[in-house]
Amino acid sequence: MAEPDLLDVPDSRSFTLRRVLQRLLAVRRVVLTTHVHADGDGSGSEAAMAAWLEGRGIEVTIVNPTPFPDTFRFLLHRQDVVAELETPEAAAALAEADLFVVLDTSEPDRVGPLAASLPRAHTLVVDHHPAGGEVLGDTAVQDPSAAATGEMVYDLIALSGEEVPPAAALGAYVALVSDTGSFRFGNTTPRAHAVAARLLQRGIDPEWVYRRLFATAPLRRLELLREALESLRVDAAAGLAWMLVTNHTARRLQATGEDFDGLIEHARSIEGTEVALLFRETPDGKTKVSFRSNGQADVNRLARRFGGGGHVKAAGALVDGPADDVAARVIPSVREALTR
Ligand code: 5GP
Ligand code: MN
Repeated sequence: MAEPDLLDVPDSRSFTLRRVLQRLLAVRRVVLTTHVHADGDGSGSEAAMAAWLEGRGIEVTIVNPTPFPDTFRFLLHRQDVVAELETPEAAAALAEADLFVVLDTSEPDRVGPLAASLPRAHTLVVDHHPAGGEVLGDTAVQDPSAAATGEMVYDLIALSGEEVPPAAALGAYVALVSDTGSFRFGNTTPRAHAVAARLLQRGIDPEWVYRRLFATAPLRRLELLREALESLRVDAAAGLAWMLVTNHTARRLQATGEDFDGLIEHARSIEGTEVALLFRETPDGKTKVSFRSNGQADVNRLARRFGGGGHVKAAGALVDGPADDVAARVIPSVREALTR
């Protein structure tokens, strides 16, 4: 038997993706959304879907639970495709949509206040997180074998029989770059490379994307790094490294959510680290905990202990309380898991 082509849509998702495609192409107005604090995968997947669907004459609005990140605005084929929550534009889009598509998460908790606006019978999910817990919508493609949700958006377009429009290729490419850590993490499959190669053929300039994403940063981002490194602590015996950023510091530097992206990688990079943690206070008295694993530890399971979740090697949780208190609860729990 001939080797299957790397670009063939995997069986693990082709059936449900076809259903998603059928439903999408039968409607006129679609709202796209993703999880709170959209990352490159969430934003890129939205941008890609929006460009593709509008090319098909479907009206699209992106309505996210938290503001669309400035860093990823360059992915949008038109800036006003985004309507920020609690604006009249967003209210109108939510009221008039025939269909809602949730990207890069399936969990009600992860879409915050938007969950109440997503009618189950008219909501579809396209996500690559492991299934677990309550699922939004009545049709959900959840395939953890996809390197990024953006890979599945590529699949959706491929199933429609069309070439990926260049504006959609950009978003899908950025989604893949973001979630694979620029094709370095364990989720970097041969297929992730194959899809990326196909997207480059659509006219993406990888160096230009690299510069937009990684080689340009506001000064405050480096100042934040300095503060985070100041807080760095290591428990070498357990293989645990952590950093802590107070809300006071975040406010003083006027740090945005995007400024924190990748920060934890510095702690993770320390020799001997099994698990890295970042505790970041939010303005509402909570602490966002990021978990990263370098080895055997399943941080999705660890994050679930604190009401969060994610992937085996990258997970997060939002926990009530100041960073010090949350760290005093989370660190012993992780240490125990690592030294058992
Ligand atoms: P990050 O630490 O970069 O914010 O998140 C890493 C991964 O963990 C994300 O891709 C997402 O899958 C997951 N994640 C982060 N925060 C949460 C959370 O509060 N709840 C759940 N269920 N998953 C989260
Ligand atoms: Mn993702």
